[in-house]
Amino acid sequence: IVSMKGLTKSFGAHHVLKGVDLTVRRAEASFIIGPSGSGKSTLLRCVNSLESYNDGELWVEDYLVGAEKRGEQWYEARQRVTAARRARIGMVFQRFNLFPNMTALENVTAGLRMVLKQSRREADDRGRELLDRVGLLDRAGAYPAQLSGGQQQRVAIARAIAARPSIILFDEPTSALDPELVGEVLAVMRDLVREGMTMMVVTHEIQFAEEVGDTVHFIDGGRVAESGTPAEVIRASRHARTSEFLARIR
Ligand code: ATP
Ligand code: MG
Repeated sequence: IVSMKGLTKSFGAHHVLKGVDLTVRRAEASFIIGPSGSGKSTLLRCVNSLESYNDGELWVEDYLVGAEKRGEQWYEARQRVTAARRARIGMVFQRFNLFPNMTALENVTAGLRMVLKQSRREADDRGRELLDRVGLLDRAGAYPAQLSGGQQQRVAIARAIAARPSIILFDEPTSALDPELVGEVLAVMRDLVREGMTMMVVTHEIQFAEEVGDTVHFIDGGRVAESGTPAEVIRASRHARTSEFLARIR
């Protein structure tokens, strides 16, 4: 469902992604680990078009995300990423990024009403169903400031899955949380994995990646240094850089 070939991205003279090859299949829980500054967030941001890329190919579902150039030629089948296409990709950030002036329910339904043009009634029904799934139906009327970090992140997950996306991207969803709140967010993510949701997860929660991940990619210096099952990459790393990194964060 996501396929990158030689994905390259620079910010000015700073080369952040140096030819990333990575594939995510449908219903796969794909984890991305690696040192700070290695390009993990940039990679996710390319997938949902928050960031453009310079070279290579990036396919999401059946479309080539708007690469400007391929080699010396404009790619003829280049397709624009429309709002409807972007709605097929959910994203959950490190900082919960909820709208502060909206209730939990309004946060979850905003996209359904504005992008998918659902009626308030239809959106609210779906919104309540989603809040119930993340265990927050009783907090539907609460504003973000009245919720704990873990609760806010669960609302953010409910919002990300509201439009039934084909993939959800998580960028360090638990790293801004107090330790005692991490578990409730991982529990919601674990449910999504069990339901067969396709996801790409950037995280330092190595145990969680080992427990629920189908694949793990270790990114280092803008390249995928090692990919495989959690057993291969985490327990039997082939690259010294991977083992060093794991030893540091454990
Ligand atoms: P972390 O683990 O700290 O979140 P990361 O692997 O997510 O790191 P990125 O955020 O993708 O790393 O950043 C990779 C590099 O690109 C960093 O050196 C960063 O400073 C740089 N960078 C990211 N976004 C921009 C931007 N908009 N403009 C310029 N440089 C950027
Ligand atoms: Mg990051």
